[in-house]
Amino acid sequence: KTKIFHSLRPRAPLPPPSQPLSIAQFCFSLLQSSPSALGSTTVLIDSSTGRRLCYSEFLDQIHSLAVTLRTSTSLSKGHVAFILAPSSLQVPVLYFALLTLGVTVSPANPLSSEAEIAHQVRLCKPVIAFAPSSTSDKLPALPFGTILIDSPNFLSMISGSRTDIDQLERVQVSQSDPAAILYSSGTTGRVKGVVLTHGNLIALIAGFFHLQRESDQNQNQPQPQPVSMFTLPLFHVFGFFMLVRAVTMAETLVLMGRFDFESMLRAVEKYRVTYMPVSPPLVVALAKSDLVNKYDLSSLQLLGSGGAPLGKEVAEHFADKFPNVMIVQGYGLTESGGGAAGMTGEESQQHGSVGRLAGNMEAKIVDPVTGEALPPGQKGELWLRGPTIMKGYVGDDNATAETLDSEGWLKTGDLCYFDSDGFLYIVDRLKELIKYKAYQVPPAELEHLLLSHPEIADAAVIPYPDEEAGQIPMAYVVRKPGSNIGEAQVIGFIAKQVAPYKKIRRVSFVNSIPKSPAGKILRRELITHAISLGSSR
Ligand code: AMP
Repeated sequence: KTKIFHSLRPRAPLPPPSQPLSIAQFCFSLLQSSPSALGSTTVLIDSSTGRRLCYSEFLDQIHSLAVTLRTSTSLSKGHVAFILAPSSLQVPVLYFALLTLGVTVSPANPLSSEAEIAHQVRLCKPVIAFAPSSTSDKLPALPFGTILIDSPNFLSMISGSRTDIDQLERVQVSQSDPAAILYSSGTTGRVKGVVLTHGNLIALIAGFFHLQRESDQNQNQPQPQPVSMFTLPLFHVFGFFMLVRAVTMAETLVLMGRFDFESMLRAVEKYRVTYMPVSPPLVVALAKSDLVNKYDLSSLQLLGSGGAPLGKEVAEHFADKFPNVMIVQGYGLTESGGGAAGMTGEESQQHGSVGRLAGNMEAKIVDPVTGEALPPGQKGELWLRGPTIMKGYVGDDNATAETLDSEGWLKTGDLCYFDSDGFLYIVDRLKELIKYKAYQVPPAELEHLLLSHPEIADAAVIPYPDEEAGQIPMAYVVRKPGSNIGEAQVIGFIAKQVAPYKKIRRVSFVNSIPKSPAGKILRRELITHAISLGSSR
């Protein structure tokens, strides 16, 4: 008998899969049903400049940009657009305009090195790129070139006339068409392009919308206009779907181009922020910092943490310090289209758990050795199935087949269990992936770079626990005979070639890297060794 865990949340109604519908159309149609949506409600605030955009201007800019792109650049359905930009008012406009046209959005970390960008561009094959002048130099030449989103040209594209709006009505996007290509290394190897379809995103947003409507109906007093503070990057799945969610719900979003803790506190006070989706390092900072006492944070009602494990003690420490702020956890992967499990406000006391399965999601807990599906209380690899699960990795059928089985189950690479009330607990990570401040650091990529050094014979990279960052990348290095290469040289060699969050921050020299008979690095052995070494250092 198969043991499948079903979601305990209400099933959100989904449009028939055969109905042509883009995530942008879906989002706008729900938005129209919100009483506060239209007209002068603020949608976006740039906290560094104080500039604001209201919903009517936002929708006008999206339509104007979509029409201009369609008529002047012949960008159309099936094309991919690469985006390399820190958060700004232009980025959400750009996402929605491209999604309206059926153009696949592929945003990457603006801190990426040229080599990292070249790899991503090889994967997603964009025809065009969008970037501010500060990052555009790192982009390769593309068929339709690069459009500078901080240029007067872009300004005229978003503020043009909307007389050609019927142009957009002719665009037919299928729900099975790719909407976004986001980047993840999955359970093993190098960075891959995760294809999420319009249908994936529609299912995700429909779930949130449905849950929110139910909870609104249970509120008997009017709530303030929700204002969320986005310290999350908009290129990562968490920021990406939270942005689409917030717009669909007619909320106000405060964006931060460059993260700075105190500026964030100032913005929370100034804009009366009610909600913050965050990664765990920010919860640690809020729980520890005395700076928080300098600001009036009384508007804050809810913190939603995701992207990496949130320590139980940290959550409790936070709850003690901010008794009026609820903290809930969520869990997901780029490959699951984001939120696969999460907590409602009523479940926030369940510290240590990441909540319950999202509506429409099914799960199995699979014994990594026997492949058997396990009952509640037993630990195994979490497998997920549902309408938000990615279509696959772009141009990589092997990696797709290793991650998605023939029945549509996604192997998460996370060691988990469910309790008897349907709460999910993440115990450990079985996959190689390192998460530095919730950013993905694929060990295989760093190992590949280390092996290219003339004085390095062999190398392995593993996660090393760190209170502030969650994990830091640590390298085990075997020197070539006669070499005296030291820690600083190894660190420097990698730092030159990767985005700052991927830097190696600790090195240990060894005579050999432990490997299985098949040549696989025995990472567990190294992790145990590193931790015992660390405590004696
Ligand atoms: P990403 O694709 O960058 O979102 O990374 C997904 C991975 O991050 C998951 O497979 C987990 O290993 C980890 N992760 C995400 N959210 C959580 C969470 N709430 N608790 C523990 N690990 C998490």
